[in-house]
Amino acid sequence: MHPSSPTPVLRFAPSPNGYLHIGHAYSALVNQRIARAIGGRLLLRVENIDLGRCRPEYEKAIEDDLAWLGVEWEKPVRRQSDYFPVYARALDGLIERGLAYRCFCVRGDISRVIADKRGWPADPDGVPHYPGVCRHMSPAERDRRLASGQRAAVRIDMAAALATRADPLSWREFGESAVAREVAANPAAWGDAIIGRRDVSASYHLAVVLDDADQGVTDVVRGMDLFHATGLHRMLQHLLGLPAPAYRHHELLRDERGAKLSKSAHAKSLRSLRAEGMTATRVREMLGFR
Ligand code: GLU
Repeated sequence: MHPSSPTPVLRFAPSPNGYLHIGHAYSALVNQRIARAIGGRLLLRVENIDLGRCRPEYEKAIEDDLAWLGVEWEKPVRRQSDYFPVYARALDGLIERGLAYRCFCVRGDISRVIADKRGWPADPDGVPHYPGVCRHMSPAERDRRLASGQRAAVRIDMAAALATRADPLSWREFGESAVAREVAANPAAWGDAIIGRRDVSASYHLAVVLDDADQGVTDVVRGMDLFHATGLHRMLQHLLGLPAPAYRHHELLRDERGAKLSKSAHAKSLRSLRAEGMTATRVREMLGFR
């Protein structure tokens, strides 16, 4: 780091919808190692916009488990549920600018439209692109539905978003190395992705870019499973006039069958390992940390 450059800011951002497992431990420890190496601050952000699945006891457990593991973070803990008005304002702004629109479709509406279309594109998570049913809904029809109490998600209008830029977007990617490369972003791969859920005024994608900017995050350290999502995040940062952090996507831990650990039945929570007598030192050593 150059002596006069600002202090780097990193964040570990788990969702409290379960207990932390060994994959989370790895991500938190990589964050801590990089923060120390580059003289950065490490924040803890609780990503709890999914109010149906997140629970206070899991949130409490995150702090206990990280402290047990020897991870230190800056207080106060940031919680996404404190920022819903910020997310809602950003959504309204994008809708007003014609860069996003309300979508009333439920899953069945979408699958009916694309059922017989072979080779329909899917996003990097395997979700079929939205076929655009609500994209050109008249304002009168939209207002009628909202007035009758129908709930709507908000989707980015990807074609309109792409048309705001002449040159392609990219990001600075370190991976797990000390040297960055420039990666071409491919936001179009996400189609008209949901940026505001039907039940809350944000989606992960929108919340994460607003939070990273608001919290001054300079280096996003997270798992490779979010590598492609960064293309969509870069587009949202561009549309919202937010700075682009550098990204450091780390490898994911896999079980003996090669399945991603977070999805694997073998992923034991840190608390169950601890209850079995495993020490924090042993967990750190297993993950290559001292
Ligand atoms: N909340 C996300 C997760 O638990 C991480 C998001 C991020 O680091 O950008 O997988």
